[in-house]
Amino acid sequence: MTAPAPDSLAAFEKAKGFMPVHEGLAFHRAAVEAAALGLPLLEVGTYCGRSTILLADAARGAGVTALTVDHHRGSEEQQPGWEYHDPSVVDPEVGLMDTLPTFRRTLHAAGLEEHVVALVGRSPQVARVWGGPLGLVFIDGGHTDEHATADYEGWVPHLAQGGLLVIHDVFPDPADGGQAPYRIYRRAVESGAFTELVPTDSLRVLRRTGPGI
Ligand code: SAH
Ligand code: MG
Repeated sequence: MTAPAPDSLAAFEKAKGFMPVHEGLAFHRAAVEAAALGLPLLEVGTYCGRSTILLADAARGAGVTALTVDHHRGSEEQQPGWEYHDPSVVDPEVGLMDTLPTFRRTLHAAGLEEHVVALVGRSPQVARVWGGPLGLVFIDGGHTDEHATADYEGWVPHLAQGGLLVIHDVFPDPADGGQAPYRIYRRAVESGAFTELVPTDSLRVLRRTGPGI
């Protein structure tokens, strides 16, 4: 079955986060396809678990694990005073953002906790200690060139042949959004190591079909 379970879809629609429903459904289709490889599916950029729900639903269907990486302190544009700041996810004791509690509640309410391993830390640091092959790498973390490039270089080498690289917030026109995700998308295309599948708005899906990245 390709569509998310009704409970998962309802939980996704309710969850705090940044993925619109039509892109979410495309993301879920990619995750279902990749999960058939029998390998873990990895997300960079958990935030409050919105897209994680769809990854976890796909993982459950195939009996694999969804991995999701985030330091839970928020990206640059989510800090106080910036466009995407949400004061309800600030830890008052520490005075910094902490999206981990909201993520945990969201995943629990969706009934998907047992299908997810949350990796709390900086993406490049987690990537350096990660050893196994992955069926899917979803890049939706920091949107500066530094972060997007580190996510690409850290995780794509772990992507199995036949696995899917999914990148969110790819905007070819700078008027529509920041260019860092677009630049790593171009890098993947120009590497010759991927075959691109049908895009859905800013969500790009590429299958690893060759050597090199
Ligand atoms: N996928 C989410 C949105 C992610 S927002 C959704 O669908 O709603 C981007 C997230 O990336 C933020 O939570 C931020 O904390 C995280 N992030 C940014 N840079 C990071 C880094 N270098 N390592 C780990 N997480 C990072
Ligand atoms: Mg995004």
